[in-house]
Amino acid sequence: MMKKKTDRAPREAPPRKKFKKKGLILLYYGNGKGKTTAALGAALRAAGWGWKTAVVQFIKGAWKTGESAAAAGLLKQHITLAVMGDGFTWDTRHYEEDCRSAEKAWKKCREVLRDPAYQLVIWDEILYALKYRFLDVKDVVRELQKKPAGKHVILTGNYAPEALKAVADLVTEMRCRKHPFDSGILAQPGIDF
Ligand code: ATP
Ligand code: MG
Repeated sequence: MMKKKTDRAPREAPPRKKFKKKGLILLYYGNGKGKTTAALGAALRAAGWGWKTAVVQFIKGAWKTGESAAAAGLLKQHITLAVMGDGFTWDTRHYEEDCRSAEKAWKKCREVLRDPAYQLVIWDEILYALKYRFLDVKDVVRELQKKPAGKHVILTGNYAPEALKAVADLVTEMRCRKHPFDSGILAQPGIDF
């Protein structure tokens, strides 16, 4: 039985010597906004430490985003961004094509996971590909179980299979309480893309 987690003041935390360090598997999922934003926030922190981050985005990437512009310019030394889902539709009308796109993205995910150049890898929206069964969760879990020990991996998307929650070190659900979209306000640069 997992204990319920609540925010704690630092003084309430267990003594530091009880803790160890390891490369983490972090899962940001749910129907609320902030999953990709949180992952990119970690990439920014990592850049501050001189690390390299590889971001693999499982989406149809026709539009320009702030993160792709930053990765091509300001943060070029630190963030490599691969927008992979050229065939993705999410409506599953082109299932075969979507599977091929997801496979291609998954190949890239495995490649960057093993590449020692990257300390942090982000598999952005991979959970959608699992939800629609373009990828098999067993393959993803297996790959995570044999990841290089020091490497951090962040997975995002709306739905998280139990097997993935089990293998993750951190699971955060973003839950929507209010979103400007419902008041007729469209996505905006800097905040949404
Ligand atoms: P972000 O990239 O802004 O952190 P996200 O990764 O949590 O969002 P996605 O499912 O990837 O969420 O959706 C990306 C886009 O959809 C963003 O423009 C975001 O504002 C919007 N979005 C996210 N959650 C909701 C929601 N509950 N209702 C409406 N739009 C949403
Ligand atoms: Mg996202």
